[in-house]
This record gives sequence, structure tokens and C-alpha cells, in this order.
Amino acid sequence: MKNEFQKKYTLIIGCGRLGASLANELSEMNCDVMVVDRDKTAFRKLSPSYEGLTLIGEATDLHVLSEAGIERASTVIAVTNNDNTNILLSQLSKLQFEIPQVICRVYDPERTDAYNEKIIETISPLDLSRKEINKMLKIKNGVI
Ligand code: AMP
Repeated sequence: MKNEFQKKYTLIIGCGRLGASLANELSEMNCDVMVVDRDKTAFRKLSPSYEGLTLIGEATDLHVLSEAGIERASTVIAVTNNDNTNILLSQLSKLQFEIPQVICRVYDPERTDAYNEKIIETISPLDLSRKEINKMLKIKNGVI
């Protein structure tokens, strides 16, 4: 019997290092997951035990999103290596497809604030790294 989290359908866009590791983790937790990438070699990063779905395609193509089952997704995670693509797909997911949870990776920290509205959750690798390094420096120097 699946729990509520496992019943949800997660669509990951971009099967790079981050997308593939998220997909592997969700699959290990028995969650329904689909990962889309335009480069078929990207799926090599998935674990041999990955039990989710994969789709080769250009994610900005509405036909590809439809084939990926975006209409029934409870979560969309946009983690291609292009900020514009991730932002576009996140806005589309939220505004057109009304996906309850949309998470978007944005490399450019100046754009993180601009798009980190309530509707889209953005994460910035640069900001996360900066915060962690600051924390390490403070711990090392006895500030915290
Ligand atoms: P990484 O830089 O390791 O996070 O990988 C990002 C992944 O996103 C790569 O596997 C790219 O092929 C994929 N990607 C980039 N743009 C698109 C797009 N428009 N549609 C589908 N996949 C994409």
C-alpha cells in the first residue's frame, strides 16, 4: 500500500547530475517519477535499479510535456542547465498546468529573487554554497 507521498507523480526536467540523483532517490522511495531529457545519453546517470519512467525530448515542446504526463504531475522539478528554460517551464507548469508544487533551479542569483515568488520555489546553487561556506567559516572561527 503506497503512502500519500508515494502516490504523487513527480516530473523531473533535465537528467543531469542533479536531476538523475533526485530521480534515483524518488524511485528508491517507490514514488512515481518521470525524467525528461533531450539527450538520450543523459539517462546513463540513472541507477540500474531505477524503476521510474524516462522520455527523450525537448522539454519546451508542449507535445513532449503532454507525453510526459505533465497534466497529472503533483510536482515539477526544472533542473536543466539553462536558467531561461527552467524559469519558462516553471511558469508554464504553474500558470498553465496548475501544478501544485514547482521547484526551479536558477544559477544566476540575481534572477533567483526575481522569480522566487510564492508560486515557484527557486533554488540557487551559488546561494546554497555561499551560505554553507559562511557557516563552516563561522564554526571554524568559533562565531557559532
Ligand atoms: P546538468 O548540467 O548536469 O545539470 O545537466 C542538465 C541536463 O539538462 C542535460 O542532460 C541536458 O541535456 C538537459 N537539458 C537542457 N536543456 C534541455 C531541454 N530544453 N529539454 C530537455 N533537456 C534539457
